[in-house]
Amino acid sequence: MEIFERLESNVRGYCRSFPTVFATATGATLTDESGQDYIDFFAGAGSLNYGHNHPLLKGALLEYLTADGVVHALDMYTVAKRRFLESFEQLILQPRSLEYRVMFPGPTGTNAVESALKIARKVTGRQNVISFTNGFHGMTLGALALTGNGGKRAGAGVPLTNVTHMPFCDYFDTETSTITILEQYLHDNSSGLDLPAAFIIETVQAEGGVNIGSRAWLQELSLLAKRFGILLIVDDIQVGCGRTGPFFSFEPFEMQPDIVCLSKSLSGYGLPMALTLMKPEYDVFQPGEHNGTFRGHNAAFVTAEAALQAFWKTSELTETVNRNARLIRDTLLDLASGCDAQVRGRGLIQGIQFADAQLAGRISRAAFERGLLIETSGPSDEVLKTLPPLNISEQELQAGLEILSDSCQSIMNQPALV
Ligand SMILES: *Cc1c(COP(=O)(O)O)cnc(C)c1O
Repeated sequence: MEIFERLESNVRGYCRSFPTVFATATGATLTDESGQDYIDFFAGAGSLNYGHNHPLLKGALLEYLTADGVVHALDMYTVAKRRFLESFEQLILQPRSLEYRVMFPGPTGTNAVESALKIARKVTGRQNVISFTNGFHGMTLGALALTGNGGKRAGAGVPLTNVTHMPFCDYFDTETSTITILEQYLHDNSSGLDLPAAFIIETVQAEGGVNIGSRAWLQELSLLAKRFGILLIVDDIQVGCGRTGPFFSFEPFEMQPDIVCLSKSLSGYGLPMALTLMKPEYDVFQPGEHNGTFRGHNAAFVTAEAALQAFWKTSELTETVNRNARLIRDTLLDLASGCDAQVRGRGLIQGIQFADAQLAGRISRAAFERGLLIETSGPSDEVLKTLPPLNISEQELQAGLEILSDSCQSIMNQPALV
């Protein structure tokens, strides 16, 4: 590991939680160069919803490369892009009666968020945008301004402006209506809040600590947006693509966001790819007004299309998610009953928040030593976040949960660190 520590920037992060050198990966298992296996309850922070190197996706990619399919084409028309758009329309948009235009921003999530912000500001002519406490939307300056985390914001080096943060769903407690507070700010011409171009939300705040936006809260926010002429942007980058069960996390709530951001598991294979979906009337950019060299990542189009064909023709994956979610939830509730902790989640993003914030990190380290990758999230890294591939086998899921329980047990039996 010497070269990493000597040559690679201090900014490196996840490698510190999982200090080994990984070599190969299939399904829900990563293997390091010494041959040690790790069950993956992290899945590339939600970029590997279908697991590592899924054979159907790999097959499609290899076939495309072998035939000298175009890999880079800026945003020129290609056969791979056409096939992706056709499948996305047929398997995702049409069955859900969603009418969106599809924009390819740069290939990462933060690009999708930046383009969504530009669109909302251009459409409304307003500058301010409301994001929510503990929200996470990316690292470029526009997206970072939306992000709550102080540690991340500290890296900006310039003021992060044109954003107002309002309390997310149960930010205070379950009694206080954060919608009433927001509504009052919007109504009161003397509140000091500039009427925003948009609200941007995650239906489940993933990095922010697995905080759930309740059905009522999401629906009321949606109505508030309509009433005040504010665009609703759903950042479905981490909890879309089936993570909570349905393809889009907002599907169960009869919401119609004006703009949707997708990335992470969109390519299905861990290849960079992002989408910004907007209602047709908000397709306001001039040709090339938002640009980028890697918006036509055709290898990602190929695996993304293969993933749609493999997983989104039936409701089977959604049912698997629901079944696996129950297993995880039962284990986490068990763990929580032995200590001061709270369990929450939707589908295959489930978290356990410990009153003693140190515990989450200590359990994650103990799990790594036993062959399980599991990350922490939340403002003080006090939430253990389980994020396995959606199609993990029941056997591997059980094995991972056993390691998690053992790790928890071993830490509980140890005296606390000072
Ligand atoms: C990961 C993430 C982003 C940023 O995506 P990048 O590809 O890291 O730029 C934005 N929003 C959410 C909700 C995310 O989880």
